[in-house]
Amino acid sequence: AALARVAETDGRLGAFLAVTPERALDAARASDARRARGDARGPLDGVPVALKDIFLTQGVPTTAGSRILEGYVPPYDATVVERLQAAGAVSLGKLNMDEFAMGSSNENSAYKPCHNPWDLARTPGGSSGGSAAAVAARQVFGTLGTDTGGSIREPAAFCGVVGVKPTYGRVSRFGVIAFASSLDQPGPFGKTVADAALLLGAVAGHDPRDATSSTRPVDDYLAGLEGGAAGLRVGVPREWFQEGLEPGVERAVRGALAAYERLGAKLVEVSLPHAKYAVAAYYLIAPAEASSNLARYDGVRYGLRAKASALKEMYAETREQGFGPEPKRRIMLGTYALSAGYYDAYYLRAQKVRTLIRRDFDEAFARCDVVAGPVTPTAAFRLGEKVDDPLQMYLADIYTIPCNLAALPGLSLPCGLHEGQGLPVGLQLVGRPFDEATLLRAARALE
Ligand code: GLN
Repeated sequence: AALARVAETDGRLGAFLAVTPERALDAARASDARRARGDARGPLDGVPVALKDIFLTQGVPTTAGSRILEGYVPPYDATVVERLQAAGAVSLGKLNMDEFAMGSSNENSAYKPCHNPWDLARTPGGSSGGSAAAVAARQVFGTLGTDTGGSIREPAAFCGVVGVKPTYGRVSRFGVIAFASSLDQPGPFGKTVADAALLLGAVAGHDPRDATSSTRPVDDYLAGLEGGAAGLRVGVPREWFQEGLEPGVERAVRGALAAYERLGAKLVEVSLPHAKYAVAAYYLIAPAEASSNLARYDGVRYGLRAKASALKEMYAETREQGFGPEPKRRIMLGTYALSAGYYDAYYLRAQKVRTLIRRDFDEAFARCDVVAGPVTPTAAFRLGEKVDDPLQMYLADIYTIPCNLAALPGLSLPCGLHEGQGLPVGLQLVGRPFDEATLLRAARALE
């Protein structure tokens, strides 16, 4: 049924870059057989899911939305892919995304645009646009994406689904195509908080193959889910309700905050004075790390190789043909920022700003259990609206980036419709390090 739904809807939606029906049916039959034997692997056994095309999948082409990886077939699975398979989940294929996860609208996909199921003229968000759209359009029950600066939470908000960006180190990055290694974090999308919690529980936990993976035990995210919001202290950063926030978004978010009060939570005003530097710091750190990570695409080891008569010419021509405009922009920005004499002025300074932002959150969490605010300044914008203005596009992540810089867990929960536009609005919750359980419980209380 899920494959039929994909076949019926994806021509218009564009959420999938590759559908793998035979593999899916084989996995589904194996799951049926297990369950018939009374040998089910748990609640995800047999559940149709799909994966952002940034996760390596053995034997299934993986492109990261880029021409430079066209035709690349990974020889192994990402840890999160292995773990979903071990839980019995059935992947239907690979999902559309911005090239190398660089973008906020999915329009940087080298292959095709992805559309928002609420209004096909609008963006599903990015970079995990396909992951959010596939869940919103009921093609699959859950998906995985990655969030470096908002790429799970922003598309979740735009498509009206739940998206969780875990604490940095909670979910393994092994086999996840790298964009900015100190920020990248895989996480789930679901229709409901419980679905997202289930997926997170399946993929989280230590992985010896990722040196930044935490050894902390994983909480049972379902166990405390129905704990409610009574007594919860919800921090409301004053800086997140200032100019730039659209009134239709603010109204929905304030409605959610009022609902928390009715449920017995306490709202406390907090301040994130350095959050205003987050976008600037991010656009030094992320391109710097990207310029280093993307150096491996040289036409020798992976994917595309341009025809040329000499080695250096082959590198240059492969990169010229293989990378789209956004990766090229970031490689140039990052290479510049890391070049001799500039490191201290840019990268190092941005890292210091990062520490200040983390301290702001630490102070806030001395007085509250979760921080709440908008995910994005607007609801889903129109395809084409911001493509020619990278700076405008970068501002879509103004509220999501601080959480990545501080390595904290963040979640996006649908909190009503934008009055006038009728489009979904997301509430963002940010939690203490490794306290995904509280985030999920707080989100569940509002559902
Ligand atoms: N939109 C941001 C960027 O373009 C964040 C992307 C992400 O989280 N992967 O870098």
